[in-house]
Amino acid sequence: MFIEIDGWMAKLRFSACHFIPNHPKCGCLHGHTYAISVRLDGEQKGEFLIDFEKVKGIVNELCDRLDHRVLIAENDPRLRIGKKKEVTVEIIESKKRYVLPSEDVVFLPTASVSAEDLCKYFTEGIVKALRGEDNIRKIQVRVDEGIGQGAGCECEM
Ligand SMILES: [Zn+2]
Repeated sequence: MFIEIDGWMAKLRFSACHFIPNHPKCGCLHGHTYAISVRLDGEQKGEFLIDFEKVKGIVNELCDRLDHRVLIAENDPRLRIGKKKEVTVEIIESKKRYVLPSEDVVFLPTASVSAEDLCKYFTEGIVKALRGEDNIRKIQVRVDEGIGQGAGCECEM
């Protein structure tokens, strides 16, 4: 059995800004509305496999952290990052440099801020929050970067 939550329909969304270093188009700072969809496989326990509200609460909390922020991948080897009152981000190859107020920036523990890496970030966060839900066997997460394109991953629990 599985339950599925569509991020667009269930409003598991956030808007944020990012760039993909050295990419011809996506190398410029730009924004997306993202939606996070989740599917959980497992055995029904009592009346539910899991309460939808619990899953939505977990995903919403993760979305809220990133909403209306500039997303920077902390482990991106293509960047030189300075963290003070202001954040400076220099793209090593092109020498392009952004200076941003630190309260506008969220650093992600990832190597990029692609939909793929955001998907891994969300999957990890959801898996962590679902620890102890021993009837759940598998989780699938999809991060849509706008309508019509997204990256997904799955993880056995
Ligand atoms: Zn983008």
